Amino acid sequence: MAFRASILTLYPEMFPGFLGESLSGKALARGDWSLDAVQIRDFATDKHRSVDDTPAGGGAGMVLRADVLARAIDSIADDGRPRLLMSPRGQPLSQSRVRELAAGEGAVIICGRFEGVDQRVIDTRKLEEISIGDYILSGGEPAAMILLDAIVRVLPGVMGNPDSGTHESFENGLLEHPHYTRPQVFEGMEIPEILTSGNHAKIEKWRLEQARKLTAERRPDLLGQPVRK
Ligand code: SAH
Repeated sequence: MAFRASILTLYPEMFPGFLGESLSGKALARGDWSLDAVQIRDFATDKHRSVDDTPAGGGAGMVLRADVLARAIDSIADDGRPRLLMSPRGQPLSQSRVRELAAGEGAVIICGRFEGVDQRVIDTRKLEEISIGDYILSGGEPAAMILLDAIVRVLPGVMGNPDSGTHESFENGLLEHPHYTRPQVFEGMEIPEILTSGNHAKIEKWRLEQARKLTAERRPDLLGQPVRK
């Protein structure tokens, strides 16, 4: 069964957005994955169709109402797909979680807005909070698209060369080695000689050394971490 994404959002017209282009767009057109965007506002019941209200306890901004969001979530049949809430308080997204999600049947993805969503929805609907990094976006939609982009590119058959997915940064706990291509000389700089030697064993060794060096310099936190496959 193809991966099914259901998005809950106040801006369904933002989708598929850039996911409609390039490899993910072709995969969407082929039916390798599907997307439906649900308008949260359709589940508002008052005459102004309001979805947010002031935070209990006071303070700045607005909060997505528990009742409206819960109805929107409950409108999607609980078929075992994980329910994810894009949230800066969530577990930082990792390539291993991306792989796990891609191996499943799909996901229900909730996009927050304003100051966030009422905690009671997170608790009762057992939402898994996922962050895409330590910075604040104005809404969960771009975060959901980034999550989906990462998932879709590892779905079977989406990437032209299945091998090109497994050498990437993070797939083996390391950042990737540097790349070079033609021209042979660019502004006086040659491609490292070893890469044109044709000796594949030596090239692999060089690439691994480079990857280790780069990771130690830039992301020492990655070294020594278990790699989940
Ligand atoms: N007041 C919140 C931020 C709200 S930002 C706080 O301080 O934690 C509004 C919405 O944008 C959030 O509900 C979430 O859905 C989304 N969002 C913002 N930053 C994000 C991030 N780094 N990762 C994932 N989603 C994010």
